[in-house]
Amino acid sequence: MTPKILFFIIFKFYILFSAKILLLQNQNQFFRKKTFKMKIALVGATGLVGGVMRKVLEERGFGNEKFIPAASVRSVGRQIEFAGKTYTMVSVEDAIEAAPDIAIFSAGSGPSLQYAPQFAAKGTVVIDNSSAWRSDPNIPLVVPEINGDVIKATDKIIANPNCSTIQMVMALCPLHKQYKIKRLVISTYQSVTGTGMKAVNQLMKERAGESCDKAYPYQIDMNLFPHGGTFEDNGYTTEEIKLVNETRKILRDNDIQVTATVARVPVTGGHAEAVNVEFYNEFELDEVFELLRNMPGVVVQDDPAHNIYPMPLWAKDKDEVFVGRIRRDFSQPRTLNLWVVGDNLRKGAATNAVQIAELIRDKYLK
Ligand code: NAP
Repeated sequence: MTPKILFFIIFKFYILFSAKILLLQNQNQFFRKKTFKMKIALVGATGLVGGVMRKVLEERGFGNEKFIPAASVRSVGRQIEFAGKTYTMVSVEDAIEAAPDIAIFSAGSGPSLQYAPQFAAKGTVVIDNSSAWRSDPNIPLVVPEINGDVIKATDKIIANPNCSTIQMVMALCPLHKQYKIKRLVISTYQSVTGTGMKAVNQLMKERAGESCDKAYPYQIDMNLFPHGGTFEDNGYTTEEIKLVNETRKILRDNDIQVTATVARVPVTGGHAEAVNVEFYNEFELDEVFELLRNMPGVVVQDDPAHNIYPMPLWAKDKDEVFVGRIRRDFSQPRTLNLWVVGDNLRKGAATNAVQIAELIRDKYLK
């Protein structure tokens, strides 16, 4: 056998062997993709956000994953529906033991601080809806359309931003990229659904003339108050400070000046926000409309001649953020007024959290 023939035979074997390895790898990946079943725990599954979370998980194709619903000890053993099946609620400790791939938390800051690190130690990725981890510089605070890229393979706790921040930054992100925001003056009109089940119950009972446990210090029906969260020493409320800090973190710009007043209103469909935006750079109104129309997840609803503007009534149960009353502020240069409305239980909580779960599944778990 000549060296030429020998080389040809070895080369042929090498090609065949490489092709076989590639085929096996692809088959393996294909098989894994087809059969991959995640384990998802939902902590706070019985709550207002937990209920919408179940709906959104089902709508977005998570109905066949292994589902582990957990809440407080009060709910252990209770039956709960998800994707047409009945599940029995377990304790958070049992959910941790099950070592799910992902645990979505909507149970308040206390349980998040206590249990999220325990899930993380088991290798579970926690997506947390409370404010417990949002200001931690080592924890990503994520709105997938804006900064989904900040999630790393090693991140075990990911924070879902505050509802009023999510809807606002969805509208602001494309404008900040183009004109750079200098200052925001925000007034919110926040739905009672933002305070949980007890608050919705208070509004409904007051409307029916019945007595009830109160989530707020005052009657909310036929009323509103400039009070969301608790008051801090500087006179602002915790809900107002979230708008300051979270906006800066998500838009990756600590120089943005923000002042906010949060009001609670007797509304159930979503939060509304009047946002006055001062930019460093001049803008054209036509281009502002174009940028907002091109932002995924944002819908421009602005036709004053026909009384079309965003309202909680229309935003309820929708995943999109609605923007209208888009107009120049004549009182000073380079300043814009916006009216932003979103369902705080959907994009403001459940939808955003499930979008984060999708990112993690597609990038790191499949
Ligand atoms: P909610 O209706 O009052 O529900 C609270 C949930 O937390 C229930 O499932 C409750 O379980 C569970 N829970 C309470 N204590 C617990 C404990 N020690 N261990 C485990 N689970 C416990 O409140 P929500 O409106 O759904 O809000 C839940 C979380 O989401 C809060 O952190 C809130 O800040 C955040 N969030 C809410 C919104 C919103 O628009 N509502 C938006 C963004 C984020 P039981 O039924 O057993 O008591």
